[in-house]
Amino acid sequence: MSIKKDKLGSLHITDKGSKGMIRLSKSCLSRLEKESVAKVLDSEFLGMGSEVKKFEDDLTEFFGRPVLCVSTGTAALHLALQAIGLGKGDEVLVQSLTYVASFQAISATGAKAVACEVNLDNLCIDLDDAKTKLTKNTKAIMPVHYSGGVGDLYEVYLFAEKHGLRVIEDAAHAFGTKYNGEKVGSFGDITCFSFDGIKNITSGEGGAVLTNDKKVAQRLKDDRLLGVQKDTEMRYNGQRSWDFDVYNQGFRFHMSNINAAIGIEQLKKIDFFKRKRQEIAQHYIKNLKKIKYIDFLKIDFLEIIPHIFVVKTSKRDELKEYLAGNGIECGIHYKPNHLLSKYDFDITLPITEHIYSEILTLPCHTDLTTEEQNFVIDSIRKFYGC
Ligand SMILES: *Cc1c(COP(=O)(O)O)cnc(C)c1O
Repeated sequence: MSIKKDKLGSLHITDKGSKGMIRLSKSCLSRLEKESVAKVLDSEFLGMGSEVKKFEDDLTEFFGRPVLCVSTGTAALHLALQAIGLGKGDEVLVQSLTYVASFQAISATGAKAVACEVNLDNLCIDLDDAKTKLTKNTKAIMPVHYSGGVGDLYEVYLFAEKHGLRVIEDAAHAFGTKYNGEKVGSFGDITCFSFDGIKNITSGEGGAVLTNDKKVAQRLKDDRLLGVQKDTEMRYNGQRSWDFDVYNQGFRFHMSNINAAIGIEQLKKIDFFKRKRQEIAQHYIKNLKKIKYIDFLKIDFLEIIPHIFVVKTSKRDELKEYLAGNGIECGIHYKPNHLLSKYDFDITLPITEHIYSEILTLPCHTDLTTEEQNFVIDSIRKFYGC
């Protein structure tokens, strides 16, 4: 860590060591986001108003269907699950290998997250295992688009149709990704995105829900603003309801103009972000594929935008430590949820537990330079002596 004074005398603390720490992920921002935020601050209207409406309109144009913005990706999932009427006694099928946000969103409604295995190829939900976990209480399935890959999403929808389940896609990793030529989010039952600081696009914090189900959308619109009926419509007209009614449990899960202003600028750069992330993934694969100790997920990195770049290796912990010693930050996505005390339902998931010991996430963000990436690659080669 070092502390420097800039020309104006402000202190800046950086986490760059002498060689410069290579970060696993980071927010990648330019002057444009800063100027947009400054404009919102000047407007002195920071809450949910015209900027949020514009971000929703821009996203609606991008996806070709209605988009509702909320405060976080977790809030998007939580509100979507509540809007389909989930509650105590209901069950949702979800892979254990996901961010705890997916599980927290389910348990927040009172429903039970039923932890499933993943396919080894792409670390998306294993439907054969999910089938064995169906009960009369199963109401929904939540496929998680791990690292941006969506697996056999068509099969998920067939499975859901056959068993009368709603589908809530946790697409937090999949903003901008395509499936059979169609953008994830532009089709399907309910899709939820996250715009937190390190996602494919960020709004600082934020999330979005996409659905064609008008009833679900209306409920969501109200519930993000404390359940106050039609408050969204009033706010977008620069007004507020003073005489209103409330029917549902609501939350303060709306998006602010500050966050929307960041998101609007980030969305404009999606093609650049896409190219850059795809190049990073392909550069890793090209340069690491000769190392026999390393395996990749079977994902088409020409079609998807890799949110994280994950490798599988039996010497995961040693490699992670070696890279950290060389100033390279790596990650583990994720500790399986059924190993957490809150979600420990006395089950074992052998495939998930095994893969958890092998996965390592390498640095991948749009500010990563070729030099930095080559240093990561060379360090991995050195570790394996090849
Ligand atoms: C980031 C993430 C979320 C939650 O999004 P937040 O905006 O951080 O609340 C949910 N699921 C997965 C898989 C994520 O990576």
